[in-house]
Amino acid sequence: MLSKVKYFIIDMDGTFYLGDNLIEGSLDFLKAVKESGRDFMFFTNNSSNNKTVCAERLKKLGCDIEKEKIILSTDVSIDYIEKNYPGKTVYLLGNERLTAEFEKSSIELVDDNPNIVVLGFDTTLTYEKIRKAAMFIANGCTYIATHPDFNCPTADGFMPDTGSMIELFYASTNKRPQVLGKPMTPTVDYVTDLVGCKRDEIAFIGDRLETDIKIGCDHNITSILVFSGVTSEEDYTVSDIKATIAVERLEKLIDLL
Ligand SMILES: [Mg+2]
Repeated sequence: MLSKVKYFIIDMDGTFYLGDNLIEGSLDFLKAVKESGRDFMFFTNNSSNNKTVCAERLKKLGCDIEKEKIILSTDVSIDYIEKNYPGKTVYLLGNERLTAEFEKSSIELVDDNPNIVVLGFDTTLTYEKIRKAAMFIANGCTYIATHPDFNCPTADGFMPDTGSMIELFYASTNKRPQVLGKPMTPTVDYVTDLVGCKRDEIAFIGDRLETDIKIGCDHNITSILVFSGVTSEEDYTVSDIKATIAVERLEKLIDLL
């Protein structure tokens, strides 16, 4: 089932680590991937982080990789706007890390009269930002969200993520954004371009059905579900979203390489 796969696109939280702990066998899986002549990238929808923060976190857990091996929904969003809306201005809902990534790009950030509103995982969201963004969206701005996740896992449970804010703005403006990140098509295009592979040469691995697995189902791409994160075997049994392969954790894939 994995014979054609050249690149594994691995989710981070709930797939490679859980909270502050590596999931058992995760490093062995990466080693086995390399030894089989294949390669990997990490992909996280969490646009409140950046590559450096993610790489440092992995390093603390014993996984020392270059930060270029980490892709965020931020990368897809910036690339998408640069290609599809060149020269357009953006009002960004994002924390200091997301804002810094946009500032490094060719996209001009503005506080008033934007062409586009970008809703990221803004851990510094204020009522004033919500008020302004809702007004811009209601007035007809192009509206983009970096990813659809409702909640983000944390050490003590979860915190509301971008998907929840999408519902807030929908209640206020009756408008929904173009969503990027996993499971959306621009993410597939970005990843396949970046690693230089066709769709049947990559596989997405992750713990969340609606993002990590749906991106595979919707695009005829191999998807691998791990039960080490948010999805239990019971959840999976009753879900319409089915992975190509489902295993307890990454380590259990080594024999299939
Ligand atoms: Mg996850």
